[in-house]
Amino acid sequence: MARNNNDDDDAIDESDCCGNGCTNCILDHKPQPSQRAQLAGKRNVILTYANFRLLSNEAYKADAQVRLMHFGYDTEHDAGDSILDIPPGHHVMLRTDATTPLLRPYSPYWSDFVAKEFKLLIKLQPNGPMSSFLANLQPLQVLQFRGPIGANYVHDANGAKCIVIIAQGVAIAPTLPLVAQILDNEDDMNRIRHLICAQDLEHVYFRERLLEFAQYWNYSSCLYLAHQSCTCCDSNTPPTDQPCEQVRRQLRYKEAAYTGRLEAKQLAAQLPANDAENIVVIIAGHSSFQREMSEQVAKVAGVSAGNIHLLKGTKLSITSTFIAC
Ligand SMILES: Cc1cc2nc3c(=O)[nH]c(=O)nc-3n(C[C@H](O)[C@H](O)[C@H](O)COP(=O)(O)OP(=O)(O)OC[C@H]3O[C@@H](n4cnc5c(N)ncnc54)[C@H](O)[C@@H]3O)c2cc1C
Repeated sequence: MARNNNDDDDAIDESDCCGNGCTNCILDHKPQPSQRAQLAGKRNVILTYANFRLLSNEAYKADAQVRLMHFGYDTEHDAGDSILDIPPGHHVMLRTDATTPLLRPYSPYWSDFVAKEFKLLIKLQPNGPMSSFLANLQPLQVLQFRGPIGANYVHDANGAKCIVIIAQGVAIAPTLPLVAQILDNEDDMNRIRHLICAQDLEHVYFRERLLEFAQYWNYSSCLYLAHQSCTCCDSNTPPTDQPCEQVRRQLRYKEAAYTGRLEAKQLAAQLPANDAENIVVIIAGHSSFQREMSEQVAKVAGVSAGNIHLLKGTKLSITSTFIAC
């Protein structure tokens, strides 16, 4: 893509791309001034690379490899005429300093317009360069982020569709603002079916938040626990979709779960029958998962490609080894 010569700070060139082959690459989706920022008459601080301080970095429950990271805009040079707008479904680009230059996309699950803060759920990948960098971050260390980039899905609040959101592992994070956006709008008549794939109950992120969502008339969810273990079943127990009594006892009010992967049979049961035009599917997860799910929803419910949106980018190099959920 050609460099934008109007304003060097805003310019996008090949070096702004992380090279992962994201479906919503920064080269095709240049960060744009948001409508909310324009309405507020303020500058969106993240439109060009901006400094954010690490306010907290906590392990997610017992898993030290999964981190909740909270960042706040470094207000040292802030004249107070700015906001932070990262609309639902968008991601931001993290850039490290010149000595160890790295560039990776991350999808905030929470952001605050006025306080100029955002939060990420990050799974540290073994031997990953950015993961090692993030694992060693010190409190108040300054990092550079740019965005918002994306999104592949633009929500229509005037619709009355069934929005099926399929999320895998930590990729549930960017689906939370999308859900909240719909539920927070009383006039929005869309219904949400949130299908969450995780290895087991311990790895269902944001469970409390999901239970809050479940209080709304137009939200329901189902957990697919691909590797849930218990002490009552063994290898001789015939496989079944239904969780055993031990797993069932760990579920909360309004929580539905299946022990096993989300496959064609389960999808067919979740998607409204004979109503393909009124189904919108949003898929967030690894590239192989996104591809598998989009093929399945097209097959079992006849959902057209135009109604299937992939929220996250791709990692084409690892598709052959990745196991869904
Ligand atoms: C649009 C977009 C949004 C993203 N948002 C988030 C987010 O909110 N939170 C988050 O934790 N990550 C997110 N990622 C992934 C993130 O950008 C990095 O790829 C990840 O943090 C690993 O970076 P790394 O440099 O440590 O490892 P890399 O060098 O990128 O990879 C290290 C090793 O881990 C494998 N690997 C990398 N990512 C995955 C994966 N997702 N599943 C399985 N194996 C993998 C690689 O193949 C390699 O073997 C997002 C990716 C995209 C495209």
